[in-house]
Amino acid sequence: MKIENMRLKEMLRINFRGLTFIAQDKIRGILLMLFIGIINAVYTFWNVWLLAVLADALQAHASAQTLIRDLALMAGGGLLVGAVNFTSYYILFYIGSNVWEQADLALNSKMMDMDYEYMESEKVQNQRRDLDEITRSYGGGGINFLFWRVEVVARTTTEVLIAVFYLAQMIYKSATLPGTHSREMGFMTALFMLMLAAALIFSYRQNIRWQEDRFSLENKMIPVNRSFTWYVENYLEKTEASKNIRLFKQQSVLMERIQNIFESITDKVGRITEIEEKIQLFLGALRAVLLGLVYFLLGAIALQGGMTAGNVVLYAGAIGILIEYFSEWVFVLTELATNSKYLKAFFDFLDIPNQKYEGTLHTEKRDDDRFEVEFRHVSFHYPGSKQDVLKDFSIRFRIGERLAVVGENGCGKTTLIKLLCRLYDPTEGEILLNGIDIHKYDYQEYMNLFGVVFQDFKLLSMPLGQNIAASESYSPERVYDALARMGMSDYTKKLEKGLDTVLYKDFDSSGIEVSGGEAQKLAMARALYRDAPFLILDEPTAALDPIAEYEVYSKFDELVGTKTAVYISHRLSSCRFCNDILVIADGRAVQRGSHEELLADEKGLYYRLWMAQAQYYVHGK
Ligand code: ADP
Repeated sequence: MKIENMRLKEMLRINFRGLTFIAQDKIRGILLMLFIGIINAVYTFWNVWLLAVLADALQAHASAQTLIRDLALMAGGGLLVGAVNFTSYYILFYIGSNVWEQADLALNSKMMDMDYEYMESEKVQNQRRDLDEITRSYGGGGINFLFWRVEVVARTTTEVLIAVFYLAQMIYKSATLPGTHSREMGFMTALFMLMLAAALIFSYRQNIRWQEDRFSLENKMIPVNRSFTWYVENYLEKTEASKNIRLFKQQSVLMERIQNIFESITDKVGRITEIEEKIQLFLGALRAVLLGLVYFLLGAIALQGGMTAGNVVLYAGAIGILIEYFSEWVFVLTELATNSKYLKAFFDFLDIPNQKYEGTLHTEKRDDDRFEVEFRHVSFHYPGSKQDVLKDFSIRFRIGERLAVVGENGCGKTTLIKLLCRLYDPTEGEILLNGIDIHKYDYQEYMNLFGVVFQDFKLLSMPLGQNIAASESYSPERVYDALARMGMSDYTKKLEKGLDTVLYKDFDSSGIEVSGGEAQKLAMARALYRDAPFLILDEPTAALDPIAEYEVYSKFDELVGTKTAVYISHRLSSCRFCNDILVIADGRAVQRGSHEELLADEKGLYYRLWMAQAQYYVHGK
């Protein structure tokens, strides 16, 4: 089976893994699907069997009673299967057929738990979006698709097996026909068999080819759909983006792009439908030709006296079923073969390694919060980039003190923190905590050492208290205390619902909007609530007004207490209060000292940056 480099063994393995995945949560769903499939397959033959019995009865001039009984069985069977189907599907929905949710949950929790390094990479982000798009195309491709095909596979496989059984029986009968024209009969049977085999092989090959066309078209749809979703979610539905779109009059540019996307989607959907119609047309024609042939053959055998009227009905029916459902069987198997690629994409995503979780050492529980951190000859470049962001970078933190990290935009300050927090690993060199490589520590315990406010922090559309505590359960006193330390007491007093006030209006119309400055203080309160030995603030005052900024500086010692604080800023004036300032330039630690010491070195970078920045403050530009 030519399905892009995927061997049959691999396909079987991945489908089995898919079923095992579904069975973790929905084993009853799978069993019910199998049951529905088999019941319906048997029912496909039900009417053929009864018709055969009826034909024999008519031939034998059976009583009206027998005929009525057969007809009643026919109608009763239909009613019964209808009822079984209805009830089974009802039960299926009741016990949970929402397999896509199960798959989506697995993907989302993987996204949240995987190593940040992967999570942030464009490749993984696109992988995740593609998986979303896959579930939107190809009948909910991947896990969901597999689940819903269990019934079709069970049904068509049973149908084909039963039909093949009757076909074999028919051939046996015609081969052992006692009549005078046995040679002609043998020849006709062989011809029929040949034509049937040719038709089945042709049907199989066409199916595979069309499936591949369809798959490649569906695949082309994925990036198109992805960009459309992206436009809607990030531009059209985002208030921040709308502001800019209005101001810069970007409506027509955007509408034109969206129009292009629409046209591309319509074109591809049209082509997919065309392929599906072609398949149906082809199968219809094939069925008609073969059925004509089989009736001819059976008629001839019956005329020879080789079988009863019932047999003719039975075999004609079985072969009709074989032709009809063989195509469906091939169709579903090729669909599953194609779907294997989506399953593979799904499991490839879940299999992205979580290397960060390999450490096992416990972090020391120190009452004095005295932790020592050392960067030893650390070099680092982002995955997929050759540019070293940090180069042979070595520093030691004076523990329990405040370290300011300054440098121009893009010099690597945030990267330094990402490495310290184990969001990324150094490409070379090592980072030590109390003399031990940070890799060796248990990841969660290690992460608990840090309260970080990143420049691009995010508060969630959830109640205020849960945001600050980063948990559904929390101590209100501690939350109020953290807010008070950030000067937010008046702010919280004004909130009618207090800590239950929902931030933003995404999910709750009574939610409150939060200004940039307020959000920054809330994010800092969240870091304080954590009460971790390290407090790391990345450009923490960027959104604050000068008064609020001043408050943060003046209370900084009080906020930090005995903790080790790392304070990052490109604005030198906001770091003056730290007695230990590290200057980074071009990924290297170039200077270190107090503000006065650094300023005394007139050839140093700090002096140059200070003078350059000071002139704006002095002239008030
Ligand atoms: P700073 O915090 O000093 O402004 P950063 O540490 O954020 O600087 O960035 C340092 C350099 O690394 C910049 O050139 C930036 O473009 C690059 N960079 C930051 N994040 C990534 C990333 N995820 N992938 C690739 N390059 C990145």
